[in-house]
Amino acid sequence: MNTHVLQGNTWAINFPSAIGIYVFPDNTCLLIDSGASEAFGRRTLKILDNWGFHTRALFNTHAHADHCGGNRYLQETTGCEIYASPIEAAFIENPILIPYGLFSASPVKALKNKYLMPEASRVDFRVEEGELFIDGACFKILPLPGHSLGHTGIITPDEVLFAGDSLTSIDILKGFPFLYLADVEKHLDTLKTLRGLNMDRVFLPHGGLQDNIPQLIDYNYQVLMNLLDYILQVIDSPRGREEILPLVVEKFNLPLNRNQYVLILSSLSACLSYLCNTKQAKVYTEKNRLLFIKRD
Ligand SMILES: [Zn+2]
Repeated sequence: MNTHVLQGNTWAINFPSAIGIYVFPDNTCLLIDSGASEAFGRRTLKILDNWGFHTRALFNTHAHADHCGGNRYLQETTGCEIYASPIEAAFIENPILIPYGLFSASPVKALKNKYLMPEASRVDFRVEEGELFIDGACFKILPLPGHSLGHTGIITPDEVLFAGDSLTSIDILKGFPFLYLADVEKHLDTLKTLRGLNMDRVFLPHGGLQDNIPQLIDYNYQVLMNLLDYILQVIDSPRGREEILPLVVEKFNLPLNRNQYVLILSSLSACLSYLCNTKQAKVYTEKNRLLFIKRD
């Protein structure tokens, strides 16, 4: 089966959006993220059942649908308690906020889909940075914001870091050299935090256990720098956001559909905010348009 031990009592199920598992001595377990949908929640319980594990708790790294899509099913079926950061909890409990944020208003129906809007579930515990004890086992909660506002990692007692989407695997970045970000400045701080941790075992839901962490962090950093550099080039003359987007899509050869459009636009907005807030660019209105231009 596609389940394997990462280290000690720390396991993973290799779905396209993988689920982490920490097994307690009584064979109950903590899940880390819940997969992309109810179907993945169902498959997870079947796999855990085969191994004789019972779900007692679920930690979400963030509220994106591919990480909490199985929440509702797992919560209703097992009664597990759900842990998330306060900001991500707001999105998990009110998933309309995700397409609302991407569209900047009550979204068109086409954006209220399972890729952008997971089913709502209840978060029982809002976690903060520091130690989290569950049944005597000590987990470390590590804020890793940037990819989403309240994105959070968790380190199991076996010293495996589940880093969520705070890093993207090099393999994925080679085919898709773009980062989905909500906050560039926070993401840069997160990369610094990750560098300082010197962890050997870092698990990514998209990409699995990583082997060369410093190289992975550098690669992620470089992809972001390339993106910021390109945007600065493009706004050498004044341009609006929706004018910049197709240039970015063509430059980095990104696939595009309605979902991708709003996700890329949101990341582009994060980059433009960062460039303006760090005085590399400025924003103004002219002839009824909101324009961005590089500063000298
Ligand atoms: Zn994500």
